Amino acid sequence: MARILITGGAGFIGSHLCDYLINKGHDVICVDNLFSGSKNNIRHLLSHPYFEFIRHDIIHPLFIEVDQVYHLACPASPIHYQYNPIKTIKTNVMGTINMLGLAKRVKARILLASTSEIYGNPKVHPQPETYWGNVNPIGPRSCYDEGKRVAETLMMDYHRQNNVDIRIVRIFNTYGPRMALNDGRVISNFIVQALRGNPLTVYGDGTQTRSFCYISDLIEGLVKTMEQEDFIGPVNLGNPNEIKIIELAKIVLKLTHSKSDIIFKPLPPDDPVRRCPDITLARQKLNWQPNVSLEEGLKETIKYFSEKLKG
Ligand code: NAD
Ligand code: UDP
Ligand code: UDP
Repeated sequence: MARILITGGAGFIGSHLCDYLINKGHDVICVDNLFSGSKNNIRHLLSHPYFEFIRHDIIHPLFIEVDQVYHLACPASPIHYQYNPIKTIKTNVMGTINMLGLAKRVKARILLASTSEIYGNPKVHPQPETYWGNVNPIGPRSCYDEGKRVAETLMMDYHRQNNVDIRIVRIFNTYGPRMALNDGRVISNFIVQALRGNPLTVYGDGTQTRSFCYISDLIEGLVKTMEQEDFIGPVNLGNPNEIKIIELAKIVLKLTHSKSDIIFKPLPPDDPVRRCPDITLARQKLNWQPNVSLEEGLKETIKYFSEKLKG
């Protein structure tokens, strides 16, 4: 049994990770300021003897004793991370420094949830870890993608300078139950719109691509990376099945049996045109690859949102 801290543990990915690690018999401490996460995501764990929730903002220091840190705290959807961009930067910089200070003091292994956004609007396709990216340093997404780039830099510097035992994963678009209804990401938006009979809002002409990974596949990749010896990353975790956003809208309409229309809205600034992970490294080093198809994953997610909308 390990004592494991999960920052951002009440969020979408974090809460699934809490479930997974509790089920494996670990002692889990979930730290979250509940900005974009919710107690509802961890409600079923609150009475578990090996689960603790601490409401705390990681831009302030935190002193606890643990063996591992999964550092996930940071709003992930564009609406949430652009709501207070200065706070997003603080979370990525000051929050990551605090978690690295903690990991250094207690000699814990620390994993950073970085993102495919560090590749920006990529000029190399699909994106391997060796690609340095094409990022706008002054745009509305910069608080997030530059924030995560600094977080990666901090991880590497604490590793080189202070011997902190680190892992860096670059997560590509991930979806599943417990995404927030209002978080504005494409899969939750489309499913909720389709279930409510509202038009599906495709930004731009819908020819931009993304590659969507189901949450259970991602959780396995995170834990494998944490447990792998002698491999610090960075490593891409995502599903290489690339699809156009307009195609995604049609699949959601089919699976929800919805009669909603598709409407087109302006493309947000700096919206990447193509995104698809090269997961060769994860296959080689972690023996990991996603197994859940888009259709299977969407069906589970639709089930979740249908229940949630019923109230
Ligand atoms: P989420 O918004 O559901 O979860 C983030 C959690 O962090 C929330 O519970 C939020 O309340 C908490 N948080 C934010 N700022 C905090 C702070 N200062 N102190 C304490 N807690 C704070 O998002 P998610 O999709 O679960 O993403 C989790 C992590 O994975 C993020 O770091 C995100 O950047 C990364 N990631 C996610 C995706 C994706 O597709 N979901 C893709 C790439 C990277
Ligand atoms: N820190 C923390 N928890 C700990 C240890 C450190 O939050 O258990 C914070 C600490 O307050 C500091 C940051 O992590 O602001 C970086 O710590 P480090 O030891 O690297 O730097 P220093 O304290 O020397 O500035
Ligand atoms: N998108 C869309 N309609 C929506 C929400 C998003 O067409 O209602 C598009 C968005 O412009 C982007 C893609 O879907 O091209 C993925 O957006 P999301 O916010 O989910 O993730 P990210 O852009 O961070 O990859």
